[in-house]
Amino acid sequence: MSSRAINMHENQRSLGTAEFRWVQFRMLFRIWQQGLDLYRDPIKSYRALKRLLQHGRKVNNGSALKKGFWVADGYGWDMFHPLFPGKAFDSFFYQHLEEIMPSGSGRPVLRRLLVAITKKCPLQCAHCSEWDSLNQKDVLSLAELRHKIAEMVHLGVSQIVYSGGEPLNRFADLLALVEHFRDRSQWIYTSAYGLDREKAQLLRDAGLEGVAVSLDHHIPEEHNSFRNNAKAWKEAISGIQNCLAEGFPVALNICPQRDYIRSGGMDKFMELANELGVHMVNILEPRAVGHWDGEDVELGQTEKAMLESVWKKYNDQDPYRSYPIITYPGMARKKTPCGGGLSYLLLDYDGTLRPCPFCKTPITEVQRERSLCEA
Ligand code: SF4
Repeated sequence: MSSRAINMHENQRSLGTAEFRWVQFRMLFRIWQQGLDLYRDPIKSYRALKRLLQHGRKVNNGSALKKGFWVADGYGWDMFHPLFPGKAFDSFFYQHLEEIMPSGSGRPVLRRLLVAITKKCPLQCAHCSEWDSLNQKDVLSLAELRHKIAEMVHLGVSQIVYSGGEPLNRFADLLALVEHFRDRSQWIYTSAYGLDREKAQLLRDAGLEGVAVSLDHHIPEEHNSFRNNAKAWKEAISGIQNCLAEGFPVALNICPQRDYIRSGGMDKFMELANELGVHMVNILEPRAVGHWDGEDVELGQTEKAMLESVWKKYNDQDPYRSYPIITYPGMARKKTPCGGGLSYLLLDYDGTLRPCPFCKTPITEVQRERSLCEA
């Protein structure tokens, strides 16, 4: 495989320490300005910003952020916050400040919406959480989807993530939705199956912000076997390259199993991610739901500790400064409550609101007080 230097494109790069600190300062100042707008009080805005930073440290297991990247649309440090600067960034943090230090308005604090736009998918993955409904008939029309998403945007959602099934399986509708909500931060979670250069370009022109591609192993045959499709690896790699060529920030979603972690697979995976030139690797812990319902797949303390070491190594140590940033939501959950049902929601295929793809309790109204997962 060609080197990272060859794969990096002119419209994207990782940030050096000084540039990262300067961008971070500008971001914090902008968030303080949002606070000024929200509280009409500079001191209160400063205090809320401090709380936000403390919250960020907790999410990062006590560490300060050290890495970021630049793409043509702005600066970023993970896949869960809109790029800076921009309207979506402003409204995302306006809502986040409201959650961290309520202004007394009683407004909901929604920020992120995951939308399952189709049940169709060309793969049959070992860990699929949607296994029971996979490839059944889709229920909602484009107009209905648009209306339901618009309701959530009205309540404050500034980041929309399209998933499925495979969202590319409903490409024309996906494109129409992205175009319609183009002032929001929009991502797709995809296997990249069929994501050719033309589709990547159309999505980019429509206003998509980023792409997260599922890749679960550094060995092609192992990924194909996990995804139960002989072309899964080839399609994923080609989709990643097309998205990078279009200037998207790209994350790899990996669901590492116990044996893979214990045998040092994550280091090999990080070498692959670095060679591909992606910006982030997002670690998703295996969950005993969907196709894995009742299976003994969840990670033990040893594997979780090994993942935390990998996270620290590639995010904190100087020799790995230009490697992709690792995000590990499972680690953050140890220190901070889950936001499912509070700051983010899943809009399921049939229009039902749920906390997330794993916790399927229907939500009848947006929770204002605490996370539904906690409840
Ligand atoms: S996990 Fe995703 S890509 Fe795999 S079968 Fe399920 S919906 Fe398709």
